[in-house]
Amino acid sequence: MFLDYKPTWMLSKITQLTPEDAKQQGIKAILTDLDNTIIAWDNPTGTRQLHDWITKMQTSGIPVVVVSNNSAARVSRAVANLGLPFISRALKPLTFGIRQAKKRLGLTSGELVMVGDQLLTDVIAANHSHVRTILVQPLIETDAWNTRINRFFEKFLMRRLLRRHPELRWKERLND
Ligand SMILES: [Mg+2]
Repeated sequence: MFLDYKPTWMLSKITQLTPEDAKQQGIKAILTDLDNTIIAWDNPTGTRQLHDWITKMQTSGIPVVVVSNNSAARVSRAVANLGLPFISRALKPLTFGIRQAKKRLGLTSGELVMVGDQLLTDVIAANHSHVRTILVQPLIETDAWNTRINRFFEKFLMRRLLRRHPELRWKERLND
């Protein structure tokens, strides 16, 4: 059961993932969560660093696709100036959105990675799709009540995971 929540890697933030490291792992496309993984409420258009990262991935031929549980209206508004394709209403922790992205990209599960800030949605959905995962630290702590409840369970799970898997640690580079 705990394997369901176990991320493959843990990076502080998505921009630490380089095209070279991704390619070395056989990753051909990146699926990413939206909220608190690439954008935060205090910076809804994305940081300069994020924009540079997207450009770097795209010029390296690695597509980045947003897989979000939010509505199409909300996600399309959010990604408008990032120029990223997206899957909305992904139904994470179910595998629906990831399967859709996989089909659209024409790639196998082993050629994808899912990046997200939540074990309970992003990591579980990807693990059940046999897609490797990168857990990132949430960009910002939010006060939304549902997020706070989720964070409580996230912290609980995180403690158990780290106890059971001492090899898991926050890294600066994927292949460190
Ligand atoms: Mg998130």
